[in-house]
Amino acid sequence: MKRYQYLYGPVPSRRLGKSLGIDLVPHKICTYDCIYCQIGKTTQKTLIRKEYIPVKEVLAEIERFLREETSSIDYLSLGGSGEPTLHSGIGRIIKGIKAITSIPVAVLTNGALFYDQGVREDLSMADVVLPSMDAVSRDVFEKVNRPYPNFSMEGMLEGLVEFRKAFKGQIWLEILFCKGVNDHQDELLRMREAINRIQPDQIHINTIVRPPSEKLAVPLSQKEMEKIRGFFGDRAIVIPEFDRHPFPLAERDIKEEILKILRRRPLSLNDLSKGMDIPAEELESHIQPLVLKGSIRVRSFGDSIFYEAEKEIDIS
Ligand code: SF4
Repeated sequence: MKRYQYLYGPVPSRRLGKSLGIDLVPHKICTYDCIYCQIGKTTQKTLIRKEYIPVKEVLAEIERFLREETSSIDYLSLGGSGEPTLHSGIGRIIKGIKAITSIPVAVLTNGALFYDQGVREDLSMADVVLPSMDAVSRDVFEKVNRPYPNFSMEGMLEGLVEFRKAFKGQIWLEILFCKGVNDHQDELLRMREAINRIQPDQIHINTIVRPPSEKLAVPLSQKEMEKIRGFFGDRAIVIPEFDRHPFPLAERDIKEEILKILRRRPLSLNDLSKGMDIPAEELESHIQPLVLKGSIRVRSFGDSIFYEAEKEIDIS
């Protein structure tokens, strides 16, 4: 029996310290199908909000985790295997968390549903919201995020502006750059205008660091990232990781745990070692038999080797 069904981590994250992930939608339900997505292709693209998993069960798991686990947590992060604001009970979940702990709540979202006042209100009790904005021109947006048909990008951007006016917590806006797709000068200028309207507290500049959903998604170099950071000014920082989708809590059947993690997204030995808190050499002795058996595939990306396992389709 799984110890925790909806909790992942704690995962070390540069942005959120030690973060416990809370997965609010099954893999992989999202409003977008980003070319750079590291957890695979969207199997259910939708704008429909519903209680994908029971609010009561999520809160009970969080409460149990906080009671039973000794490790300290810096943030409870709502995100996971798809877009968390698609969960219609996200506001009740944040409120429920606030009733049981003072650990700050972060929401990792693509921001797509911010046109909906109900979604903005649902997030009002969070401490940090990390929305993404990878494009501001329709054609670039369609190319990089591949949204639900006829989705209004303009409505989403206006929603971000409105959210900023009302939200008292921190907004860390993330932009993920793919070479030749959303990094040209015209788009950067439009992004800067949009940022001036949204007024986030921080701008996180990111690129692809793990095998993406599509081969056409190519990362920027560190030099190119630094140049963009300079262009966006003081509030911008370069993020050396992609932590929008943390990976599952360690269960002590190591081989099963490795497979479970790699079904969600491809990872390097180093990533796995950090996330599972097991030395790389020890992990390798578990991985190699799984590679020989064909349960794990080896894939190279950039200068690194990544491992991945066949995905489980889980739409309940
Ligand atoms: S990166 Fe996030 S927003 Fe984009 S398709 Fe993947 S889950 Fe959805």
